[in-house]
Amino acid sequence: MKKALVVANWKCNPSTEREVGKILNEVKRQIRKITNVQVVICPPFLFLPFLREKIKNTKIVLGAQDVFYQGGSFTGEISPKMLKKFGVKYVITGHSERRKLGEDDQIINKKIKSLLELKMNPILCVGETKEMREKEKQFEVVERQILAALRNVKKTLLDNLIIAYEPVWAISTNKGKLCSSDDIMTMKLFIKQLFEKNFGAKISEKIKILYGGSVNDKNIQLVRSAGIDGVLVGGASLNPQKFILILKAFS
Ligand code: PEP
Repeated sequence: MKKALVVANWKCNPSTEREVGKILNEVKRQIRKITNVQVVICPPFLFLPFLREKIKNTKIVLGAQDVFYQGGSFTGEISPKMLKKFGVKYVITGHSERRKLGEDDQIINKKIKSLLELKMNPILCVGETKEMREKEKQFEVVERQILAALRNVKKTLLDNLIIAYEPVWAISTNKGKLCSSDDIMTMKLFIKQLFEKNFGAKISEKIKILYGGSVNDKNIQLVRSAGIDGVLVGGASLNPQKFILILKAFS
């Protein structure tokens, strides 16, 4: 059976290592019973060393919330190679909160390329704004974002890519509403077809598609019923009780 993938995006939270420890101790206490789920936690960069120690001998894998596309004279940045050497396996790329800060398709393309070349797992976030959804342009937006992010990427490297469909209007910090299970399923099929058309049936079959946007312990069964490969969880991943219930739903 294919393992589900559950990714915690802690964003710019919590504020102290002590709080990180509290969340992790509770998750670790309960995670032993969880089977068949790949759990990834993406903390702020500053907490990666602490997290790496804390998750030793657990099922949790290290993730990052972003990366720059190379090393060198780039003040304030972190390179893919640094993350890889440190033990980070998954990297969220093109999150809508970064796009809002000015990250464009070209930059995202460079990031995806460097991560795939290092055999890391980029989690490419795509999704339409409220305005685009109202104009029924969600498929157009997602197609453009995916094709732009994968421009000139070698097909042979795509095995490690993960797509997260995250409608911007559904993200909890935007006071988002959960996307309906039917709409998640329709988008999943659309993405599969897009991959088949552009990269072939084998890749389309293999590509993992996650959903993200206001997922919590109360709606996780509904989200799961859309037949996705896992979820990207923001707000609810900071609450260990809620996060464990989300993991249990896939276990
Ligand atoms: C996110 O921003 O990646 C996300 C999924 O957030 P939330 O779960 O809080 O909507």
